[in-house]
Amino acid sequence: MHTACYDIVVIGSGPAGQKAAIQGAKAGQRVLTIEQESRVGGACVHRGTIPSKTLRHSALTLLNFKRHFSTIAPLTLQPDVELTSLMSHLEHVVRAHERYMADQLARNGIDQWHGRARFIAPRILDVLSLDGSHRRVTGEIIVIATGSRPRTPEAIPVDHEHILDSDSLLSIMYLPASLTVLGAGVIASEYASIFACLGVQVTMIDRSERPVSFLDPELTDCFVQALEANGGRFLARQEVAQVAWDGASTVVTRLRSGDVIHSEKLFCALGRLPNLDGLNIAAAGVTLTERGFIAVDDNCQTSMPHIYAVGDVIGPPSLASCSMEQGRRAMRHALELDIGNPPEMIPVGIYTIPEMASVGLDEHEARQRYGEVVVGRAPFTELARGQIASSTDGLLKLVADAQGQRLLGVQIIGEGATELIHVGEISLLAGCNADAFVDHIFNFPTLAEAYRVAALDIAKRRPAPASTTPPAPAVYHWRNSHLTSSPQ
Ligand SMILES: Cc1cc2nc3c(=O)[nH]c(=O)nc-3n(C[C@H](O)[C@H](O)[C@H](O)COP(=O)(O)OP(=O)(O)OC[C@H]3O[C@@H](n4cnc5c(N)ncnc54)[C@H](O)[C@@H]3O)c2cc1C
Repeated sequence: MHTACYDIVVIGSGPAGQKAAIQGAKAGQRVLTIEQESRVGGACVHRGTIPSKTLRHSALTLLNFKRHFSTIAPLTLQPDVELTSLMSHLEHVVRAHERYMADQLARNGIDQWHGRARFIAPRILDVLSLDGSHRRVTGEIIVIATGSRPRTPEAIPVDHEHILDSDSLLSIMYLPASLTVLGAGVIASEYASIFACLGVQVTMIDRSERPVSFLDPELTDCFVQALEANGGRFLARQEVAQVAWDGASTVVTRLRSGDVIHSEKLFCALGRLPNLDGLNIAAAGVTLTERGFIAVDDNCQTSMPHIYAVGDVIGPPSLASCSMEQGRRAMRHALELDIGNPPEMIPVGIYTIPEMASVGLDEHEARQRYGEVVVGRAPFTELARGQIASSTDGLLKLVADAQGQRLLGVQIIGEGATELIHVGEISLLAGCNADAFVDHIFNFPTLAEAYRVAALDIAKRRPAPASTTPPAPAVYHWRNSHLTSSPQ
């Protein structure tokens, strides 16, 4: 069998593989991508980020309509709303994004094969094409970017009709009257809040105390309140004993506590597993982690120096945003190009309703590391824009050092949080003090004004300076695009 030879072979065309391939091609390498699906884009475009955010957009639009016009135009969804009618532009959004990704690959001269890749030696892959034929290819560098899939515990009989996972949830025909959500991670919380906004009776069940337990509890408490305000509920510290479809109309969920929950559908969102099945990873010779993900170093290099692994296949944070950066970094490292420092901080954006976002240290982490800290809060009720947009269920927290000066982190819940967080991220990277937000002019009315409100709160709470001479206020000015401060 003829064996094709490439400088770089990338397995998978999701965000991680795509960015790796483009980086390689831009450096003048001959690059091949192998994708088992007939369409490029990965879970991100077809089953994850883009579809869920499209449904979310519709749910939020309905919620905002209800908030603003319920007195003059009461809105009730018809019974048996087809899910596709709530995402009528999804096909358009997916096609547009997919086309953009495919064009980008083509524009950069990247060859694309469609088929399932399988290692037969550390440098040789067999590719089973969609028409059943086999091809072979070798790569000087091989990038594994095969993504992840939902984890389904044996006790949960996912049938993709009544008991669903994140791959099948959006394929249901009609909006259910009720939905049980198992799990309290990012995907569980996003979908729980979206469906609750659409009027579905949502019950989230998890072992943990709070949803999205890695976030500041003040934010997640606000999230639970918002979920409850939309008719949902979160059952904390609960173990599921059994899940079964009754064969007629109901999914029955029995908890170890003895409680029983009945719902029309159940969504199982209990974590993700790496896509390694069928890849014959043993023949690649790479080491796996205890949890079965591919083990990599800071540059995404595996135990085999010519093989890199990027994206969900290496485990958390399992975000499209991070996957893209991993693809780029891995390729630059492989090609011995300047790689820059690893990102100092990873912003987290969670598209629940309302959104949640975090960057840097939260209050608890900062206290653990530094002891004393000063925290400033800006409830969105204090923002004109929050009132105008009826987005008052928000809060921005600024965490500063013990003197109430240097910023250590930002946490936000509320509409626009995933956008607003980048103001905080850049401020942290620029080493700004909290006062930068006081001395700065914000457009009015904006949600970004929350930074100023929280900074004023910090100024109010910071300890009085030990010296009787007040410190010279900092003057902030733009120099070479960096915010720098100097004493007046
Ligand atoms: C419901 C949901 C919502 C999400 N929302 C967000 C969000 O809002 N923001 C965010 O940043 N992230 C989000 N994510 C996470 C994001 O989708 C993933 O982190 C991202 O898709 C990972 O990219 P990847 O390239 O590693 O893998 P994928 O996007 O999964 O792509 C992997 C590709 O590899 C292909 N492949 C697998 N095995 C083989 C093989 N043997 N041969 C050839 N091809 C193969 C697959 O077909 C697939 O196309 C969400 C995920 C889900 C499930």
